[in-house]
Amino acid sequence: MTSAPATITVDTAKLPILLTELRLPTVARLWPDFAAQADREGWPAARFLATLAELELADRARRRIERHLQEARLPPGKTLDCFDFAAVPMLGKAHVMALVAGDGWLDLGKNILIFGPPGGGKTHIAAAIGHALIEGGYRVLFARTSDLVQRLQTARQELALAAAIDKLDKYHLLILDDLSYVQKNQAETSVLFELIAARYERRSILITANQPFGEWDKIFPDKAMTIAAIDRLVHHATIFEMNVDSYRRKAAIARADIIKP
Ligand code: ADP
Ligand code: MG
Repeated sequence: MTSAPATITVDTAKLPILLTELRLPTVARLWPDFAAQADREGWPAARFLATLAELELADRARRRIERHLQEARLPPGKTLDCFDFAAVPMLGKAHVMALVAGDGWLDLGKNILIFGPPGGGKTHIAAAIGHALIEGGYRVLFARTSDLVQRLQTARQELALAAAIDKLDKYHLLILDDLSYVQKNQAETSVLFELIAARYERRSILITANQPFGEWDKIFPDKAMTIAAIDRLVHHATIFEMNVDSYRRKAAIARADIIKP
C-alpha cells in the first residue's frame, strides 16, 4: 500500500514581511501572480525564481536611476531629445553623443567647458548631458555656481569645507552653471578654487559661462588663483564655444512672424 502524499502547507502569510526585510519589493508585489501562473502552467521552480529575480533586478536599476535623477536637481525638461543641434552648428551631435556614452572621460576626471552668450542653449545642453549620463548609470549634480559657492562658503565658516567637498565626490560629474555670474566681491570664491583643485584629474566638472577666460579674474580673489583654476580646468577638457544668437530671441521673433498677417 502506498502512503498518501504528505501535504506540505506552505505558510505564505509571512512572505510580505520577509521580502520587505530582504528589500525585494518587486518580488513582494509580483510573486502571487507569477506563482499562480507557474502553478497553472507547470513551470519548473527554477524558472519561477529566475523570472522574479530578473524583474527585481530590472526594477532596482530603474529605481536607482530615478533616485539619481531626483538628487541631480537638473532643470526639468532639458533633454537631448528636445535640443535642436541644427541651431548650434559648432556643437557636433556626434561629439555630444560620444560624451554622453561616457567613453572614459568621466573615469579620468576630464572636464567640459561651455562658453557662449546668454540664451544660446548652454544650460540646456549641460542639463541634457547630465540627464543622459544619469540614464547611463552615472551620478550628476547640477548647481548654479553661485549657490554652490555659497554652500561651500557656509561649510568653510563651520570648518567643514573639506568634508563638503568630499561629499561631492560621489558625483561623477558636477555641473556648475553660470560660472561668470559669480563675483569675488559677492562671496569668497577661493572655495571654488578648492573645489576645482580637489576634483582635478579625479572627478569631472562641466562649467557653463557667458565669459571666456579673459574675464575670469573677476571671479577669483587674485590673478594667481585665476590662472591656477583655469590651468586645472583646461588641462583635460573639451571646450564648446556656442557663439550663436539667443535661442529665446529667435523663438520670440519666429512667434512674432507667425502672428504677423
Ligand atoms: P543659456 O544657458 O546659454 O543662457 P538656455 O540653455 O537657458 O541658454 O536656453 C534658453 C532657452 O532656449 C531655453 O528654454 C532652452 O531650452 C532653449 N534653447 C536654447 N538652445 C536650444 C536648442 N539648440 N534647441 C532647443 N532649445 C534650445
Ligand atoms: Mg544658462
